[in-house]
Amino acid sequence: MDKKKRTPCPEQPPEERIKNFDDVVIGYTPEMAQTEAQRCLQCKNPPCVKGCPVGINIPGFIRALREGELEESYTILTEQNPIPAVCGRVCPQESQCEAKCVLGIKGEPVSIGKLERYVGNWAVRNDVCVREEVEGLDPPKKVAIVGSGPAGLACAQDLALAGVDVTVFEALHTFGGVLKYGIPAFRLPKDIIDAELGKIRKLGVKFVADRAIGRIYTIPQLMEEKGFDAVFVGTGAGFPKFLKIPGENLNGVMSANEFLTRVNLMNPPGVDACFTPIGMGKKVAVIGAGNVAMDCVRTARRLCAERSMIVYRRAREQSPARVEEVHHAEQEGVEFHWLSGPLEILGENGWVKGLRLQKMKLGEPDDSGRRRPVPVPDTEYTLDVDTVIIAVGTDTNPIIGQTTPGLELNRWGYIVVDENQMTSVEGVFAGGDIVTGSATVIEAMGAGKKAARGILRFLGVDADVPLVCDVEI
Ligand code: FAD
Ligand code: SF4
Ligand code: SF4
Repeated sequence: MDKKKRTPCPEQPPEERIKNFDDVVIGYTPEMAQTEAQRCLQCKNPPCVKGCPVGINIPGFIRALREGELEESYTILTEQNPIPAVCGRVCPQESQCEAKCVLGIKGEPVSIGKLERYVGNWAVRNDVCVREEVEGLDPPKKVAIVGSGPAGLACAQDLALAGVDVTVFEALHTFGGVLKYGIPAFRLPKDIIDAELGKIRKLGVKFVADRAIGRIYTIPQLMEEKGFDAVFVGTGAGFPKFLKIPGENLNGVMSANEFLTRVNLMNPPGVDACFTPIGMGKKVAVIGAGNVAMDCVRTARRLCAERSMIVYRRAREQSPARVEEVHHAEQEGVEFHWLSGPLEILGENGWVKGLRLQKMKLGEPDDSGRRRPVPVPDTEYTLDVDTVIIAVGTDTNPIIGQTTPGLELNRWGYIVVDENQMTSVEGVFAGGDIVTGSATVIEAMGAGKKAARGILRFLGVDADVPLVCDVEI
């Protein structure tokens, strides 16, 4: 075998996978994982670790894997990352750890993500949980975590490992944040998230559903009336943005968030996806070309859309989506309308009937450094669609800011924190998308871990919690 090339990872064929919501990537067999692990050079000064926002000991977990020590491999991974089976699937490895792997200079980098997924899956399948509940602190310390997404989970795990009494409050009826209601099951199966959550529960972390903090209790009430010594806010940035073009109020227009949440929470395993009552038509246009847009359009494909289309005003090379996602969407028969700017959503009797577009060309670079799309005169055209999904980004939900006196927000409504992730309110910490705006799962987890260290320092607890490496988060 050519050592410069990665060990290919089996996937469901496109014609099969568009009929189901099962994991697209089947994953390595033990033999394949060994072959790929053998490619790692075990660098003394491993650059890949610098590319990982939580600084996983990558050569360490790969060494243990190739020695057949899977439990040790899992232990090394979970020192920095409580949910490796998740991150091995959804991390943008090509721009993080794998982008720095030395093998990438003259060939293909080690498939770090696929190996991490392999070890994480092994632990899930074998119900391996290397961390155990530790004795509570004396005197006890209580911390409330607001939001059960990756930031909240990472913070909860590290605090629990230090003996803190942790309660996670979640607004929805289910836990995991975007992992549960955003990312579709064909990229991240729901039982994997539940298994990873189960391990955090075993550490003694309490999870309370249906509690929208800011409504049911405010943060000052949590601290003053409910006896929490500190609070971590990890509420994400799930407020949808719209385009402000005519026709956005028609029936058949949905935000990406609404569409994916409906599908994820209303499509229990075993139910035929095409009968899921989410109000989607047969000709679906998704506006946007990021990861969220790819998730929507590939979901629509699986929900029996006759045409599922991406509409983007910039060019393919400017798509912010992961290369793998665009490639998978192309394989699955998604239509792409690059350099097409939406002008108006057309309607009939209150329902979507079409999408009027204008052809664009690339002009001079804008503030983001990307070439600005410029309309080409007399090139308007109409797409025949009955559903339009808007996937052009998200904002923050203002509820926490409005109900927490003294909480400093920046001009976009995100929470301002110091180097320990503490906000302008003493004892209130924050991290993840609510601080940075939409980012990645592993960056949110890195912020949650950093906040856990800040909280322990604030509480005066001297605990040996795993450190995040000194990379900018
Ligand atoms: P979230 O995951 O948003 O979790 C916040 C939680 O807080 C939610 O459960 C919410 O219900 C809860 N909450 C909100 N307000 C309150 C309140 N007032 N009281 C109590 N609970 C509250 N990243 C990747 O790395 N790879 C990917 O492939 C990827 N794909 C994505 C696909 C989609 C569709 C989306 C939307 C995002 C994707 N991301 C991806 C981004 C990633 O999921 C986020 O950056 C990450 O989940 C942020 O974590 P978080 O913990 O800050 O927030
Ligand atoms: Fe790479 Fe993500 Fe794993 Fe870090 S957590 S090693 S970035 S796949
Ligand atoms: Fe292995 Fe690549 Fe990291 Fe070196 S840089 S230790 S080869 S994964």
